[in-house]
Amino acid sequence: LPSSAEKIWFNGKLIPFADAKVHVLSHAIHYGSSVFEGVRAYDTPDKGTCIFRLDDHTRRLFDSAKIYRMTIPYTHEQLNQAQKDVVVENGFKSAYLRPAAFYGEIGLGLAVPFNTETDVMVAAMEWGAYLGEEALEKGVDAGVSSWNRLAANTMPTGAKAGGNYLSSQLISMEARRHGYGEGIALDIHGYVSEGAGENLFVIRDGVVTTTPITAAILPGLTRDTIIKLLKDMGYTVQEQNIPRESLYLADEVLMCGTAAEVTPVRSVDGIPVGSGTRGPITKQVQDAFFGLFNGTTEDKHNWLTPVK
Ligand code: PMP
Repeated sequence: LPSSAEKIWFNGKLIPFADAKVHVLSHAIHYGSSVFEGVRAYDTPDKGTCIFRLDDHTRRLFDSAKIYRMTIPYTHEQLNQAQKDVVVENGFKSAYLRPAAFYGEIGLGLAVPFNTETDVMVAAMEWGAYLGEEALEKGVDAGVSSWNRLAANTMPTGAKAGGNYLSSQLISMEARRHGYGEGIALDIHGYVSEGAGENLFVIRDGVVTTTPITAAILPGLTRDTIIKLLKDMGYTVQEQNIPRESLYLADEVLMCGTAAEVTPVRSVDGIPVGSGTRGPITKQVQDAFFGLFNGTTEDKHNWLTPVK
């Protein structure tokens, strides 16, 4: 379980953990009207503690808010600084960060008046491997969910919004109830979409495929990182619809996300993926990914931002 911090950044100030409270009538509690990010900071040998893809996460937070016409009363720069500050002020060397913008106690009317400002918070916590340390090496057992991801033009999966995570909760709770480490959702057309909180890659005969953004996914920053790392290593990555059976016939499947990092999938619906262990390309990508933080992969895309 995450271990929390002493201070939380809330509406422009770092305040004690116990004081970072909202009212029970907060709009976001009743209607899911929040947008958020999950971000990681890593302890690097050369640049100290660095936030991974800070600008891209902050940009996505503003993008999610834009989709919902939310007004975040801070600038991109201020929220970058807030994320650095919570890490520094809490004395974390590495951390999981949770920025969120949400409607507080603004009344229970559904249609939020134009220009209503959100509340904004950024918390930091220590949080290890989301799907378990062992899964990073051995892989997770995943199951295809009976719940589909959201249909296009119902709720935008391109926004990282609180309400979307009811779908993710159904998928991950069902998976755990069936004894799987994580669930994989199909989109409403039956193509592979994503895990409850992770994007997916499928590898067969050295060809790497990931789902297109039209398959009801959140366009993950780890997904984008892996595409770029694989290209740097000389692989081609195709973005195209993945039928369910491709999960069974793959040599390798991997899940990725800020929390899950890069995790191999060793079986789907009880069918072993390839040899049922972490595959060679997955290992190569993992090494390249974690190498960004231990200094063995050059940060040529400028993805690391020191917290001070
Ligand atoms: N899909 C969903 C539904 C997620 O919640 C996440 C985690 N934010 C991802 C994919 C992966 O996105 P990222 O790599 O940006 O963390």
